[in-house]
Amino acid sequence: MLTIGVDVGGTSVRAAVVDSDGAILDTARAATPGQDRALEAAIVGVIDELSARHAVSAVGVALAGFVTPDRRTVRFAPHLPWRDVRVADRLAQRCTLPVVIEHDANAAALAERRFGAASGSGARARSTLFVALGTGIGAALLIDGKLYRGAHGVAPELGHIRVMPDGRACPCGKRGCWERYCSGTALVTTLVELLASDQGASTNLTRLASVEARGITGRHVATAARDGDPLGRQAMAELARWLGEGLALIADVYDPELVVIGGGVSGSAPLFLDDAREHYARVLTGGQHRPLARIRTAQLGEEAGVIGAAEIAREAVS
Ligand SMILES: [Zn+2]
Repeated sequence: MLTIGVDVGGTSVRAAVVDSDGAILDTARAATPGQDRALEAAIVGVIDELSARHAVSAVGVALAGFVTPDRRTVRFAPHLPWRDVRVADRLAQRCTLPVVIEHDANAAALAERRFGAASGSGARARSTLFVALGTGIGAALLIDGKLYRGAHGVAPELGHIRVMPDGRACPCGKRGCWERYCSGTALVTTLVELLASDQGASTNLTRLASVEARGITGRHVATAARDGDPLGRQAMAELARWLGEGLALIADVYDPELVVIGGGVSGSAPLFLDDAREHYARVLTGGQHRPLARIRTAQLGEEAGVIGAAEIAREAVS
């Protein structure tokens, strides 16, 4: 059975035809419009394009936002125009295929569980925590292989647990959220703070920061760290520390057996993962007297969202 997975991001809509082994057979893509009807038209456009070339049975749509437990309605999506909209029904009407929607971190986590870092007898865990480090933090929790959504479909919103009272301001309206310290965006904020406290420093990043003014990204910081830039390394060490700190907090609630780190920042894992593991073990409550979660990186990269969305569609119709 073939299904379509759609990953609706803030800038682009990516879609793929996926088989039951998680293999991508075909792809399509469009820009993300800012208005709800135009966005729905763009999604239906990529679905129609793919379903004209393949016999598909259902569609799964992944997005960053609050999705109701019945997976029909988007309550709120910070970077998309939907507010309490029955997105699944609207799309199903227009593309005449069954449609199910899902939080993008849930979709990616399920893909890693079926086909990636949390699959296979050696990796399968009773409780798996998935943490995607990108612009912010996307998180998902699998208990006995099933996604845990909470009572209202919004769990686990881990990027916004407060790790620092009165800390860095977050677009969510709070201060000190975990993702302000542990994400691609956080790498830049940390760099800016380091530069402010070390005006005379002359490193590649200092130059880059002055040349690119505000255009510097987490990717630049990661590349500089890889090249040995001291400020880049320092920013990465901060991220590692906050990753270990946050995971230890979460482990006190969920006690996961396996932690999978995904998202764009996970591509730089060799620069931070060992430090994060060490810090996690050090600050975990009773860390010397309990088994430690295995912490590993995701395997499916950017495709995890579409593969997981397609898998969720498959589950919904089979
Ligand atoms: Zn926040």
